[in-house]
Amino acid sequence: MDLNFTPAEELFRREVRDFLESKLPPEIAYKTKIGQGLSKTEVEHWQAILSARGWLAPHWPVEYGGAGWSVVERFIYEQEAALAHAPAPIAFGLHMLAPVLIKYGSEEQKRYWLGRMLRGEDWWCQGYSEPGAGSDLANVKTTALRDGDDYVINGQKTWTTLAQHANMIFVLARTKKSEKRQDGISFLLVDMTSPGVEVRPIITLDGDHEINEVFFTDVRTPVSNLIGEENKGWTYAKYLLTYERTSMAGIGASTAAMRSLKEIAAEESKGGRPLSEDPLFAARLARAEIELENLRTTAMRVVASAARGEAPGPESSMLKIRGTELRQDISALATRALGPYAHPFLVGAHERGDNAPPIGPPAAPAVTPTYLNLRKLTIFGGSNEIQRNIISKAILRL
Ligand SMILES: Cc1cc2nc3c(=O)[nH]c(=O)nc-3n(C[C@H](O)[C@H](O)[C@H](O)COP(=O)(O)OP(=O)(O)OC[C@H]3O[C@@H](n4cnc5c(N)ncnc54)[C@H](O)[C@@H]3O)c2cc1C
Repeated sequence: MDLNFTPAEELFRREVRDFLESKLPPEIAYKTKIGQGLSKTEVEHWQAILSARGWLAPHWPVEYGGAGWSVVERFIYEQEAALAHAPAPIAFGLHMLAPVLIKYGSEEQKRYWLGRMLRGEDWWCQGYSEPGAGSDLANVKTTALRDGDDYVINGQKTWTTLAQHANMIFVLARTKKSEKRQDGISFLLVDMTSPGVEVRPIITLDGDHEINEVFFTDVRTPVSNLIGEENKGWTYAKYLLTYERTSMAGIGASTAAMRSLKEIAAEESKGGRPLSEDPLFAARLARAEIELENLRTTAMRVVASAARGEAPGPESSMLKIRGTELRQDISALATRALGPYAHPFLVGAHERGDNAPPIGPPAAPAVTPTYLNLRKLTIFGGSNEIQRNIISKAILRL
């Protein structure tokens, strides 16, 4: 296994850096750097810039608008984008639904929905979880009953990220009662503007409105919006989850957060010296950095095997656990580094459009909301306890 980048890959890195330097709007990069959310318009603007360059969905097959990058080139792009503080495109359509459409959708569905994603015509959200169906996803109770050329949907989804912006949702719904709970679930696409869809906000610990409850009362969606076969949705749902998890190591995000943390540690002082020279804090920084380097090597190992055509196995669970815990550790160190400046909890500092003058350095107001917000990482995409179960079964054979 050769973990060094080839000259061609280094050339590609230069191309990516040039693009980011010239095309990433500085105000978007700044907000991303200090942890402030972006407005819907800003997200769409950046995604349109990526789309114009052909880099919005680089991982798709070229025939549907992908960039034809190797796995290593994708890895390089993600690193450089995070270091430049480029926001990651919203994953629900591009990274979750798209692979399902590409593998299981009809040609007509692929052409129609993938084209709309590239042109920024739809904002997708994920309708998997329900009260009582999170880790135990097969327990979904939402029903979709066939009525002529439509399905009629009734039920409730929850924790639905950014549903307030979405015009489309992909839904797991029960189309048949079955002894085995995994049978009888179907994968449906639903227009959020249909009569009977109601979105109610859930305000999280950091004071932000990122997630929602979504209620369906006699919502009609055409049968043409069924993906794959009726009652076979569990297979497609699981396939989507492997894509959700493999993108969760967040090495780019941790690298960027580490860089910001070092800047804070160099600027803040303790006992008349920069905090970064304090032996205890320096040791904590070093430990996080070593963890990050370990994670990077493991990720490169996974990337190298994927480049040989091998599907990522349970090591993606390992990456998810270590990657999410590390991001949480770095955010905890940032609150520690800022000391009293991390205390004023300005609800809204993390939110789009907030322009209240900061208390302390510019990075300070978003540090505590970010710390609180990142608690989610070890819960969603399959909680870390569930990932540990996967490792104990698949690797340790327990
Ligand atoms: C911020 C945020 C955004 C989200 N966005 C979305 C979204 O857009 N769309 C969507 O569909 N879902 C979303 N989710 C839901 C997420 O997928 C679920 O929260 C997650 O799957 C856990 O399910 P649950 O919340 O029902 O917890 P539960 O499944 O009830 O779990 C509660 C606790 O028990 C543990 N546990 C459960 N079963 C086991 C077991 N067998 N072994 C060991 N421990 C176990 C869990 O690890 C957890 O700690 C989001 C969640 C969060 C926090």
